Amino acid sequence: MFYIDKVLEDLKLKNTNEPEFLQAVNEVLTTLKPVVEKHPEFQTAALLERMTEPERLISFRVSWMDDNGKIHVNRGYRVQFNGVIGPFKGGLRFHPSVNQSIIKFLGFEQVFKNALTGLPIGGAKGGSDFDPKGKSDNEIMRFCQSFMNELYRHIGQDVDVPAGDIGVGSREIGYLFGQYRKIRNAYEAGVLTGKGLEYGGSLARKEATGYGLLYFMREMLKANNMQINGKTVIISGSGNVAIYACEKAQQYGAKVVAMSDSNGCVYDADGIKLDIVKQIKEAERGRIKEYAQRVKGAVYTESVNGSHPIWEIKADIALPCATQNEINLEEAKLLVSNGVKAIGEGANMPTTVDAINYFLKNGILLAPAKAANAGGVATSALEMSQNSMRYSWIFDEVDEKLDKIMTNIFASCKKAAEEYNLGTNYVAGANIAAFDKVSKAMLAQGLV
Ligand code: NDP
Repeated sequence: MFYIDKVLEDLKLKNTNEPEFLQAVNEVLTTLKPVVEKHPEFQTAALLERMTEPERLISFRVSWMDDNGKIHVNRGYRVQFNGVIGPFKGGLRFHPSVNQSIIKFLGFEQVFKNALTGLPIGGAKGGSDFDPKGKSDNEIMRFCQSFMNELYRHIGQDVDVPAGDIGVGSREIGYLFGQYRKIRNAYEAGVLTGKGLEYGGSLARKEATGYGLLYFMREMLKANNMQINGKTVIISGSGNVAIYACEKAQQYGAKVVAMSDSNGCVYDADGIKLDIVKQIKEAERGRIKEYAQRVKGAVYTESVNGSHPIWEIKADIALPCATQNEINLEEAKLLVSNGVKAIGEGANMPTTVDAINYFLKNGILLAPAKAANAGGVATSALEMSQNSMRYSWIFDEVDEKLDKIMTNIFASCKKAAEEYNLGTNYVAGANIAAFDKVSKAMLAQGLV
C-alpha cells in the first residue's frame, strides 16, 4: 500500500469520531502524493504520522455563572499541533458546534497556513462549545475569565499565542487578556493577538483576514488575466472576515450583492451598504435580516434546515467567509451553472472535497483557505513583532506588509503548482509549498 494511503487508513481507525479532522488531513495528504513519492526518507522518518498527531491536546472544564446565578459547565480545548517553526499560534472559537474534531482540523490546517506566511509561527487552535449568542457582557466576561483560569498555564508569548476566531472578537480578547495579566502579574502583551489598539493591538489586524483574502484574489485573477473591478461578488457570513472582505472588494470596484449569517441571506441588487451591515453586526450584534428592514429594495431569504440560499445568487466571485463545509457539491454545481469564475475561501475549509474537485474540474479558480485567509494570522504575527519592540506601526505600514505577504503566498502557491504541472490548482500548490517548509524544519530538528 502506498505510504500516504496507509497513513490515512491508520488515521481513520484512530480518529473514528472526528470527520472534520479526517476531511482536512485527507484533503492535504492526497495532494501531496507527487511530492512524497519522490522522497522515501519521509516514510523512514514517519513524517506524515508525526505531522498528523498533535504535539499536545488539552481539554478542560470551564464553569461559569450566568446573570441569574445559574451555574453552567462548558468544555474548553487547546490543540498545540506543531511548533516546529515558532511558538504555537492560532485562534480561539466559541461556538456550540466546537468539539475535538473541529479543533483538530483547525489546528492541523493552521500549521500549514502559518508556514505559508513566511513568519516564525507554529500551528495551534482552541475554543469552547460555549454559545456567546444572547449572553450579556457580564456573562461573556465571566466565561472568558474562567476559560483563562485554565488556559493561562499552557500559553505564553514564546510558548503559544491565541487570537480570535468565530465568536471571539476584540471584546473577548480584552477579557481574556485582563485575566491573564491578573493571574501572571506581568504585562506580557504578546501572549494574545487581536488586542484593542489601546493596549498593544495592531492597526489593520481587524481588517487583515478580509483584506488579505482580496489581495490574494487580486493576484490570482491577475495571473489569469482577470481583475476584481466590475465583478459581482457574493459573501457568506457577516462577521469579521466577511465585513472586511466586502470593504476591500468594494474598494477594488466590485459590486457585492449579498451577505448572510446563520439564519439567512440578504440580496441588494444596488450593492450592499457596508456601513449598515457594520452598524447591525459590529455595533448592535444584531441579525442580517435587519438589513432588509432598513434598506429599501433589499430582499431577505431565510435559511431552511441549514441551507445556504446565498449560493443561489448569480455572481462572478463567491467568497465563503462563514464556516466549514458551507459549499457542498450541489451548491458548487449551482454556482458553476450560474457562471461563477473564482472562489475565495475566507473561512476555514468552507468547501467540501467533492465541491473543490468539481470547481477544479470545471476550470474555476479556487483560492484555498490556508493560503487565502492567512492574512489574519500573518498580521497577528506582526502584532507580536510590535509587542516585542514595544512599538507600533501606522496603519499603512502594516497594510503594506500584509499586501506583500499575501502577494508572496500567492506566488509560492503558483510556483509549487507549476513545478508539479498542476496548472491553476492552487489548492495543491498551497499544500505542497507549506509542506515543503514544515517537512524540512521537522527533519532538521530530528525526532522530537
Ligand atoms: P465571526 O464570529 O466574526 O463571524 C462568523 C460569521 O459566520 C457570522 O456571520 C456567523 O453568523 C456565520 N456563521 C458562523 N457559524 C455558522 C454556521 N454554522 N452556519 C452559518 N453561518 C455561520 O467569525 P470570523 O469572521 O472571525 O470567522 C469566519 C471564518 O473565517 C471562520 O471559518 C474562521 O475560522 C475563519 N477565519 C477567521 C480569521 C480571523 O482573523 N477572524 C482568520 C482566518 C480564518 P451568526 O452570527 O448567525 O452565527
